[in-house]
Amino acid sequence: MEPTPKGRDRGHRTLSAEEKTQARQVSLRRIGRLFTPHRSALAVVTMIIVLSSIVAMATPFLLRTVIDSALPQGDVTLLVWLVLGMVAVAAVTSALGVVQTWISTQVGQRVMHRLRTDVFSHLQRQSLGFFTRTRTGEVQSRITNDIGGMQSVVTSTATAVAANLTTVVATAVAMVALSWQLSLVSLVVLPPAIWLTRRVARMRREITAQRQRELADLNVTVEEGLSISGVQLAKTLGTGPALIDRFTASSERLVDLELRSELAGRWRMASMSIIFAAVPAVIYLAAGLPGTAGTLSIGTLVAFTALQGGLFRPLMGLLNVGVSLTASLALFARIFEYLDLPVDVADPAEPVHLDRVNGHLRLQDVTFGYPGSDTAALAGITLDVPAGTSLALVGETGSGKSTLAGLVSRLHDPTAGRVTVDGVDLRDLRLADLAAIVGVVSQETYLLHTTVRENLRYARPGATDTEIEDAARAAQIHDLIAGLPDGYDTMVGSRGHRFSGGEKQRLAIARTLLRDPRILVLDEATSALDTETERAVQRAFDALAEGRTTITIAHRLSTVRDADQIAVLDHGRIVEFGTHDSLLGRNGRYATLAA
Ligand code: ADP
Ligand code: MG
Repeated sequence: MEPTPKGRDRGHRTLSAEEKTQARQVSLRRIGRLFTPHRSALAVVTMIIVLSSIVAMATPFLLRTVIDSALPQGDVTLLVWLVLGMVAVAAVTSALGVVQTWISTQVGQRVMHRLRTDVFSHLQRQSLGFFTRTRTGEVQSRITNDIGGMQSVVTSTATAVAANLTTVVATAVAMVALSWQLSLVSLVVLPPAIWLTRRVARMRREITAQRQRELADLNVTVEEGLSISGVQLAKTLGTGPALIDRFTASSERLVDLELRSELAGRWRMASMSIIFAAVPAVIYLAAGLPGTAGTLSIGTLVAFTALQGGLFRPLMGLLNVGVSLTASLALFARIFEYLDLPVDVADPAEPVHLDRVNGHLRLQDVTFGYPGSDTAALAGITLDVPAGTSLALVGETGSGKSTLAGLVSRLHDPTAGRVTVDGVDLRDLRLADLAAIVGVVSQETYLLHTTVRENLRYARPGATDTEIEDAARAAQIHDLIAGLPDGYDTMVGSRGHRFSGGEKQRLAIARTLLRDPRILVLDEATSALDTETERAVQRAFDALAEGRTTITIAHRLSTVRDADQIAVLDHGRIVEFGTHDSLLGRNGRYATLAA
């Protein structure tokens, strides 16, 4: 067996230490790349920022003139003009702010939309192995909780950066223009502010990583405790109270994490307010010291401290963006981890197109081992199934029958050897083409929460109602559907629990009939049924199998005796091969199973 590439086989319940390093490794450049398609929108936002900064710069100068000239000279005309100017500046900057918020929110939402759909389509392309390894609920949690968490960050980040940067830049420029000396004095707040911010950001990131993992746990508990199968299991095993305890504990840990996340940084706000409050005092001191006294007008001093006071909120806003961005690295790490998963069963770079499919299936010296398992599930399998003939696979549970079926529908690829249809390796066919060639009916039938008709149409979106009913008729299920309260428009309900095993089976057959595949794989499709039902379903199968290459996996020998070839599997190897009669005559494994 080939060693599994690193990362592919990693459990998705990652260790906290590992996740912490990952969070650190998420490059800001990669996050930045998400925004590259929106370069022009962001350029517009930048222009608006610059524009409003320039406009807003006027206010303190208007104020200085009010104090230093208009008021002392009692010049009412000048005063009115200055006041009108102040109002106009406020109006213009506010209007620009609205446009800015609109553009940046749109950019943020677009980025989130893109991430969400990328994650969805990337995971959709993952092989079955990924979903076997991953806890139910984990994927949902990442798509909803993690991307949802990012959504607020990315959207509000763009907006907050744009809005606050405008004010900070404008204020800073005006401050320097009023008095560069006092501006230098004001800079003393920056080092402690930045230091505090970085500390809080680190704390928040770790809390966020923990919180998202806890949210995923909670989701898994919901999935295990509140899905139909989960509830059934919990009721029959009496584990309800334990589940409630688990949920309660998980929820309590979340409360704690949310509290810590909220409070991390409250003390920072407090310290920052104190520091900022101290600055005007220092400025008055600086303005009145023997060396500097008299060099600044009162108007300058008042305008300057007003500016400086107005700097606190936007500056804190910007620093807070830093905090939430850093914290969101934990979210990005979890999403990028999914986006970075290699697709192990992928479309070929240069697909071969089969114009006419005969359905001649061959397995040549095929070996397959599940990742992480050191014994091969299948070894040295060679089979030749001519077009239109049937092959039956028999063998004990765990002998590798379903694994072989999975290779034919390319749920996984052989570790060695090849599987071909009409001489073409399955790996050279587009996955969509392969899905049209190979149809699978297994023991489990997944039904969607919609009407019976739509469940059937899911197999072929273009099918007409008549085609759907014809398929149902051939699958021996039409009469039953017609007898339902709303006929074909009856809702199937969660996972089709309202249907019995045999009914679901026949719905699956109807679906497969609609797809009309050349090769048919039936994996213990009738094993769960009683003999009576099986007979009805068997008739449906006979209708389905007609003229197609068929691989039937079955326990009951009644279903396999007519197969053109029968292979007996044991521990992943073919131990006997022949027809029903020849195998019975051999008196070996098959004869024992038949007895
Ligand atoms: P059968 O269908 O004949 O009952 P399977 O093909 O399902 O047998 O399984 C063959 C062997 O592969 C068994 O030993 C089983 O435990 C193992 N196996 C099946 N599925 C997986 C999986 N997803 N990961 C690891 N091992 C698996
Ligand atoms: Mg099986």
